[in-house]
Amino acid sequence: MPRPILVTGGAGYVGSHACKALARAGYLPVTFDSLVTGWRDAVKFGPFEEGDLADRARLDEVFAKWRPEAVMHFAALSLVGDAMRDPGRYWRANVLSSLNLIEAAVAADCRQFIFSSTCAVYGDQDGVVLNEDTAAQPINAYGKSKYAIEQMLGDFAASHGLRPVIFRYFNVAGADPDGEVGEFHRPETHLIPLMLDAVDGQRPALTVFGTDYPTVDGTCIRDYVHVMDLVDAHVGGLRWLESGGAPRIFCLGSGKGFSVREVIDQAGTVTNRAVPVTYGDRRAGDAVSLVCGSERAMRDLRWTPARSTMKEMIADAWRWHQSGHYDR
Ligand code: UDP
Repeated sequence: MPRPILVTGGAGYVGSHACKALARAGYLPVTFDSLVTGWRDAVKFGPFEEGDLADRARLDEVFAKWRPEAVMHFAALSLVGDAMRDPGRYWRANVLSSLNLIEAAVAADCRQFIFSSTCAVYGDQDGVVLNEDTAAQPINAYGKSKYAIEQMLGDFAASHGLRPVIFRYFNVAGADPDGEVGEFHRPETHLIPLMLDAVDGQRPALTVFGTDYPTVDGTCIRDYVHVMDLVDAHVGGLRWLESGGAPRIFCLGSGKGFSVREVIDQAGTVTNRAVPVTYGDRRAGDAVSLVCGSERAMRDLRWTPARSTMKEMIADAWRWHQSGHYDR
């Protein structure tokens, strides 16, 4: 029997790709998802347990049923714009739910805990390559809520022997090249899928948020990492814990920054179509530039972001965009 891993948010974008990677690596990914933003159709690689992280009794039931060896905690609200408008929702859904999950895991004696954090913990530190030694200074409720969970994990490590591995993701992009799972949000808010919607006429144009940033071409710079590389790092993190590795934070990115305009240009080249664009105001809460230094993950997890070229990420996203979708 493959060893069960509890995957919260396994019906979402990164979680569903993680389930595929876990199944391939010989584990049994047990998805725990409320389906508020996730998709039942995306659960393809192991059993499904519907539930809300706010429901401690349901969590206890699932831990007792599957006795997972580890938790991979992806479930979260993750939109900067929403977090600016409704911070209370973010603190409740991210921080309180994570506390419930951590306490349930400790009570079930499941101490290997892999957590999806974010480069949003860094806030706006322009010109700096961000790594695990960079001080966290979140500037929006999303980044603050994720940083609070990191702190909580540290406290449970100190007092209850929890062994967390924290991954701070930069901008996740691309899709499973086999087309089994992909990125699908309703409503969509992320740059690359919105751009592809505009390319094939599903929306009139992509609006570029801000053209007066202090960057090469006035648009924001982000570090994009292929979702398949990202989930490989999670399997690496699990193996790190299994082989006795210490609790640790790892930053995951490609190490290269792309401006919004550069991403648009690449999308035009990859799809061989025009990208309809309009120009708008800055989006509240956006940092100017977020670029990652992943040397620690490369060294400790022997991780390489091999698929994280802009061309490959857009090509995989485009293939999925043209063929894949989910229904609840
Ligand atoms: N962006 C944009 N127009 C959009 C969506 C995003 O110009 O319709 C920009 C956004 O300001 C940021 C980058 O694209 O600089 C990536 O944004 P996304 O929402 O994909 O991810 P985030 O950086 O918020 O995690």
